[in-house]
Amino acid sequence: MDRRLGGGNSSRTKERWSVMTVLVELTEVRKLYNGGSPQAAVDGVTLTVQQGEFTAVMGPSGSGKSTLLNLIAGLDRPSQGRVLVDGVDVGSLNETELARFRRTRIGFIFQFFNLLNNLTVLDNILIPAQLAAVSPAVARDRATDLINELGLAEKQRLFPGRLSGGERQRVAIARALINQPLLLLADEPTGALDSRAGEQVMGRLTELNRRGQTILLVTHDAKLAAAYASRVITLSDGRVADDSRLKASPEVAASDIVRLRSGEAAP
Ligand code: ADP
Repeated sequence: MDRRLGGGNSSRTKERWSVMTVLVELTEVRKLYNGGSPQAAVDGVTLTVQQGEFTAVMGPSGSGKSTLLNLIAGLDRPSQGRVLVDGVDVGSLNETELARFRRTRIGFIFQFFNLLNNLTVLDNILIPAQLAAVSPAVARDRATDLINELGLAEKQRLFPGRLSGGERQRVAIARALINQPLLLLADEPTGALDSRAGEQVMGRLTELNRRGQTILLVTHDAKLAAAYASRVITLSDGRVADDSRLKASPEVAASDIVRLRSGEAAP
């Protein structure tokens, strides 16, 4: 499904345009933990995620949801099978390449926010850009946009300890987006929030998805998945037990997405 339109006619620019629909492709992926149970945490999963989808991964505790997310994020390597993200074979990268892959391709938000409490909201958001050597001016512009978009303008000089849970998670979303990742991964992002703050965070994610952000959300909450995701994958004992599209994802429904590939220098 990854169709490439050669731009070879233009020797002047040598740019290559590509129509990209598949962002994540897992083929017969297994993950066994050393010293863990003989049962694989992820046990032969084959699936694709298209650009622009808002996918929820559901299943009971221990069914392999976090392991699946970590494999896609390059935080873990498959024991067998292949994980491709944006055409990159994540399992084949060395540690330096993996770190760069995560910084430039993946945004991650966690149940407990994982903010640095001794840094302000603004500085927390800027960290990934600094690690990726994005120019300070560009990073600052992006941070300002995200802060405004996520309703954090009045909080940017505060430390996380002064914020509510919902505000902290919005800071974490801004931090996850500062390097403009292809894929936003969220592991139980509302798990530590009251229902109102949880709805607000999900509303923000929905808005981001509407504007094209591909999102993969892990949740054990069926209502949440049904209310917000365009697709729900249910895991059971490390296998895909169900995979349902609930509604058309705006980006997938739209005509093909065209991205400039070469010359797409990572920051
Ligand atoms: P979920 O996110 O659905 O709760 P996990 O992916 O965390 O499930 O775990 C799936 C299975 O893998 C569980 O049986 C869990 O105990 C096991 N597991 C997860 N991480 C590790 C690890 N680092 N070492 C050993 N076993 C693990």
